[in-house]
Amino acid sequence: MHGIVVAKTMSVEAAFIEVAVSLPVFNTFTYEVPELLRPSALVGKRVLAPFKSIQVTGYILEVLQATDQTGTKKILDILDDIPMFPPSMVPFFSWISEYYRCPIGEVIKGALPGGLNITHVETVSMTDKGRSMLSDPALKSLDRAVLEALEERGPLRLRTLYKQCKEELSPRGLAALERAGWITRKRELKPGRVRPKMERYIMAQEERPSAESLSQVRCNILKIVEDHNEISLKDLNAQVPSAGRLVKKMAQDGFLSVVERCVYRDPFGEPIASDAGGPVPTKDQTRCVETLLQGLGKGFQTYLLDGITGSGKTEVYMRAVAAALEKNQEALILVPEIALISQTERLFRARFGECIALLHSGLSPGERFDQWVRILRKEAKVAIGARSAIFAPFENLGLIVVDEEHDDSYKQETKLRYHARDLAVVRAKLQGALAVLGSATPSVASYYNVHTGKFQGLNLSKRIEDRLLPEVTIVDLREPEGGRYAKPFITRELEKAIAETLQRGEQTLLFLNRRGFANCPTCAVCGVPVRCKNCDITLTLHQEANALKCHYCGYIRALAAGCHTCGSPKIKLLGLGTERVEAKIKEIFPEAKVARMDRDTTARKGALVKILKDLKEGAIDILIGTQMVAKGHDYPNITLVGIICADLSLNFPDFRAGERTFQILAQVAGRAGRGTQPGRVILQTYNPEHFCILTAKDQDYGAFYDHEIQFRRTLRYPPFSRLIHILVAGKDKEQTALCAQNIGEVCRTLQSENRTYRENVKYLGPVAAPLPRLQKQYRWHILLKGLKPGPLHSMARALMDRAERPSSKAGVKVVVDVDPVDML
Ligand code: ADP
Ligand code: ZN
Ligand code: ZN
Repeated sequence: MHGIVVAKTMSVEAAFIEVAVSLPVFNTFTYEVPELLRPSALVGKRVLAPFKSIQVTGYILEVLQATDQTGTKKILDILDDIPMFPPSMVPFFSWISEYYRCPIGEVIKGALPGGLNITHVETVSMTDKGRSMLSDPALKSLDRAVLEALEERGPLRLRTLYKQCKEELSPRGLAALERAGWITRKRELKPGRVRPKMERYIMAQEERPSAESLSQVRCNILKIVEDHNEISLKDLNAQVPSAGRLVKKMAQDGFLSVVERCVYRDPFGEPIASDAGGPVPTKDQTRCVETLLQGLGKGFQTYLLDGITGSGKTEVYMRAVAAALEKNQEALILVPEIALISQTERLFRARFGECIALLHSGLSPGERFDQWVRILRKEAKVAIGARSAIFAPFENLGLIVVDEEHDDSYKQETKLRYHARDLAVVRAKLQGALAVLGSATPSVASYYNVHTGKFQGLNLSKRIEDRLLPEVTIVDLREPEGGRYAKPFITRELEKAIAETLQRGEQTLLFLNRRGFANCPTCAVCGVPVRCKNCDITLTLHQEANALKCHYCGYIRALAAGCHTCGSPKIKLLGLGTERVEAKIKEIFPEAKVARMDRDTTARKGALVKILKDLKEGAIDILIGTQMVAKGHDYPNITLVGIICADLSLNFPDFRAGERTFQILAQVAGRAGRGTQPGRVILQTYNPEHFCILTAKDQDYGAFYDHEIQFRRTLRYPPFSRLIHILVAGKDKEQTALCAQNIGEVCRTLQSENRTYRENVKYLGPVAAPLPRLQKQYRWHILLKGLKPGPLHSMARALMDRAERPSSKAGVKVVVDVDPVDML
């Protein structure tokens, strides 16, 4: 970057470093390294650096022997013994910063495991002089408020003090108090929360004490330890409560040894047996693996593995990973969500043993840090994780697998709004690796890339052992049943199929992509649906909680509170959710073991794994769930899938509504008949002729794609264009609208000034967003649509530079989302 080559002198130690500070600034900064610290200044370590009047954490991006800059400041400390990321990741971070318009220091901060960074806290205390002022009647009221707060509560954190004074206190006012000598401020550094954590393991020693010399408890401990070869102190304690104290003594006597280490278990808490190299691959699998092996180690390439549900994609990934490991390369496996990580982890650990690291948000900060360090130390060569694992600090990455690549949960919707699948391709390119994207229902964007030759296509067109795809029956919900005005949501066909499945002792999966009991509680008197007070959304009745809840902001209203418009206590429970389906199923099949899997039943840690375990062990006959159940789970005893209402996502105001509907239906249908018994699907719909429904019925991705791509081409939607979504949100209705309108005006000006923008970029809006009010905030949006990424990004940048920054007082925020997924 900024290196000036100087003649090599005796020392090659870094005198200067280029640092990204963890602050919202786009530039990087050159610092001098004090002589003593030079030997340990390496790329990837964190430093403590002075920045304006404060001290911040920074990341070393480059070491320089000289600089042409003058007046560089000296860093204060180096915070790590080993680098937190390898130098090969620096270009990756820069790319992300540039593409997603996010300061590089924040990119790195978000990439590293949380809780590492030093923060500083500022405390304010009162001086004696300040205290004496309290008796002065001429003291201004705000000053008095500050001093009284300090008198009452002692030294206060700066933030607490501001809060206490209800935002009337300004930094300037505080500075004046300090100058007057009434208060002092102290800034202290608080180290990061996270440190490595280890578990203790106990092993028996060669030497055995004679049995007579030991107490009963000690004998017992020794026996348990010998039986297990080695056992964690935690497990031992569970069997012998006093073990902790005794083990220490027994170790001192030389009968036991204690080591600290991390040992892993499968997510169900069972030991994992080796799979001895796995099954013999099928012909199709072999063909795919061979293609991948030919590419491995020969530079960057992206493959799209399009393989129907149950075709054995995981085996292909595992063989490619084995080949990468053999070449001494590392591999990264991304899966869309935690529940699937367990399943994938189990398979990979059975094949590859201990060299697996796990990275996902279900880990505590400490656990996540440990996994990170194992990768840095090269103890782990394969990482499995959710989207954030794309930042795993591998140096010599050979392969990145993105399983279920179509899944929207790869898109992060807060802070840095990246798409992990897209980043997988970028990172593979920068590190000369292979990217393998796999799905039974590939995203239209990825499939299009195969057509244009950007990706190479791989195909698994048959299920393992030629198992049949499930037979799908479409049930038309529009036709009345048995003289009733509308069909019940458990139709006669579905009820019959469930009964048969129960009788055969097989499992049923019922899918409805909406949780709660009733999603449209409506006043029986005035007919107004009960709405959230913070959002423009109807509330959903959750019967278990006996309350109406908002799915966006968490607002809760007692059902008994009645109508918010006319006060009537009578609320009609219109609409349908998983809770209601569960209640109905229990009523029809009182003998069956019924469980529900949605965000409400899986909020507690471990609850999801418990449901999956019960499913595996046959403790569930009928599982009802939201899209959570649609994702790649492999449960061979599910032979019936019932789709309660296939249309929920079809009419969303989003150009991807069709794609999402196809994907979720084909995926959920694909859960049926994965074992030796054939499967059946009952698909209930109000749109039986819709092409998404018909192609999902046949799991015919090609037919779906051919239809969908026409629509995209005609309307110039991605992949024929790229989008940047700008959301303006704020509590003040007028200020928010003004800010959005200002951005719209700047768009107009930019286009009138610049021909490239005019010809290549379209902007839509500003208009109120489809969800015009959420969490008390009014929402407007503007969509930029560009035929080429270059002009689009450049216009978005110019726009953000030029648009008036909303004053912080107005409380309006502007969020720029590149390649948006959620535009509501
Ligand atoms: P997909 O991810 O493509 O839906 P999976 O990878 O889950 O499919 O594989 C489906 C099932 O087939 C799994 O239970 C897996 O263990 C099994 N399987 C995969 N490959 C083979 C093979 N070559 N021989 C026998 N069984 C296999
Ligand atoms: Zn009413
Ligand atoms: Zn709400």
